[in-house]
Amino acid sequence: MPTKTDLENNELIKIASKALSKIPDKKNTHTIVAAVCSTPRFGRRTFVAVDVDHFNGGACAELVVLGAAAAQGALPSDIKTIVAVLKRPGERDTVVNSCGRCRQVLLDYNPDIKVVVMLEGQRERITVLVSELLPFPYFWTFGDTTAKKLEEEAQEEEAQEEEAQEEAQEEEAQEEAQEEEAQEEESQLDEESQNEGSPTLSC
Ligand SMILES: [Zn+2]
Repeated sequence: MPTKTDLENNELIKIASKALSKIPDKKNTHTIVAAVCSTPRFGRRTFVAVDVDHFNGGACAELVVLGAAAAQGALPSDIKTIVAVLKRPGERDTVVNSCGRCRQVLLDYNPDIKVVVMLEGQRERITVLVSELLPFPYFWTFGDTTAKKLEEEAQEEEAQEEEAQEEAQEEEAQEEAQEEEAQEEESQLDEESQNEGSPTLSC
């Protein structure tokens, strides 16, 4: 569910913007800064990193910052929110939406990561789950985060289904027992009323 960018995320954007202002070469090699905020378990720490552009592919800032956080001991599950900020010549810094490759990496890294995005053609920034940025995704089965999480969810779902089935069977058995009891009671009443209906003749 998308949410409006809150104070915490606005702070993250400011941190990214500040880091962007320190980069001397903003024309070619380094143009985007990504910032992540960690979960409370990892002390709500922030990390920043810059992209390394190159004709043979290079690396997006979002990927570099995941590595930077990992180098400080953050697990994929410790990454809470990510934002990327771009500087365009003569313009104000702006939140830039992640490319397709980064969306896939982020999803496989930790599907619970929240991403601050800019609404197309608008100045509004919202925060969404990475899974919302990549509907009908390819799941990297060899990745150890998304695949594991999905497997755990499937196991949990299966266990819940089994439990529900057992409960339903128990309920059915109770209903059957109640029905039998009711039938028995009914037949007893029938018997009694028959007895009442044919009084014993006394001669
Ligand atoms: Zn990217």
